[in-house]
Amino acid sequence: MSFTEFSFHQQLQANLDTCGYLAPTPIQQQAIGPVLDGRDLLGLAQTGTGKTAAFVLPILQRLLSGQRGCLRALIVSPTRELAEQTHEYITKLASRTKLRSAVVYGGVGKPAQIARIRGGAEIIVACPGRLLDLAQDGVVNFSKVQTLVLDEADHMFDKGFLPDIRRIVKLLPKQRQNLVFSATMPPEIRTLVEGLLTDPVTVQV
Ligand code: AMP
Repeated sequence: MSFTEFSFHQQLQANLDTCGYLAPTPIQQQAIGPVLDGRDLLGLAQTGTGKTAAFVLPILQRLLSGQRGCLRALIVSPTRELAEQTHEYITKLASRTKLRSAVVYGGVGKPAQIARIRGGAEIIVACPGRLLDLAQDGVVNFSKVQTLVLDEADHMFDKGFLPDIRRIVKLLPKQRQNLVFSATMPPEIRTLVEGLLTDPVTVQV
């Protein structure tokens, strides 16, 4: 299988070529189509499988049509390191598209993060606490969010973030696409997933 089968926009395919990716990994082969179709998805995959591009590529493709300058995709990460890494990866995969990503996490100043959000980022990669903090400050407009990603959901549970996740979900439009990635499936994540995902496609690698 080749990436050309997904018929990505030219700029996105060019970015993939720059990355030197020749073929989609197994998780990408299974996940990209359903995410492009707007389906909810549960991805059971460890890091190192290419899971990040499995959701970032179809999200970018969907964002390329539709409104610019407003938040449309929200990716929630359990750690600053993962949030930063995902944001940098998005910046690379989105380089020719003019789509913008902002990253938010605690322990650093808010002003630069606020400026980036107010600058019209279409994507936010966030740790839960700082996102709720900025939401309370009235900095984030969630009304156009079409896709929510919970990355490393099992680690969110380990870190006690599930109540924050539920608070965040309440701020989002009811009509949206939900993607959950987790390496393991503890009962708490199963319950979260059952409440969050509608008729999901499950992919496992
Ligand atoms: P991840 O599982 O998302 O942390 O990705 C692991 C590594 O695989 C990252 O360094 C990516 O740059 C790389 N990668 C993702 N997709 C592909 C692909 N289709 N071909 C080659 N490398 C890839």
